[in-house]
Amino acid sequence: MENEENMNNSWIDKHSINCIVCNALVDERDCVPYGEGQVCPDCESKNPDIALANQYSDWKGVDWVEPNIQFPRLLSEIWHSGEFDLKKLSEEMDLTETGVIEIFERALREWEKIKQDM
Ligand SMILES: [Zn+2]
Repeated sequence: MENEENMNNSWIDKHSINCIVCNALVDERDCVPYGEGQVCPDCESKNPDIALANQYSDWKGVDWVEPNIQFPRLLSEIWHSGEFDLKKLSEEMDLTETGVIEIFERALREWEKIKQDM
């Protein structure tokens, strides 16, 4: 891209890219990789998923995740897997073990409702 304007834009020829999220022209040296492109610091700070994308190389930016659906589902799957430490969870949450079980039970009911409505 040729830039004939005489504004302190010497970085544009060497380092300019478009942010994959907001499409703004930005300096690639300030950006982080995300998906097929780069993301500007502003968009990175507004979207915590971008940090996850950098942490997990196979992160897809799963836009199918609706918290209202996936949270009860996740809790249900954890419950059914039996792979958790009830005592540790109750300590972490400052709840009784029964209190933690109650949350699991509510998640199980919620997930059953969601599955029926699908
Ligand atoms: Zn951006």
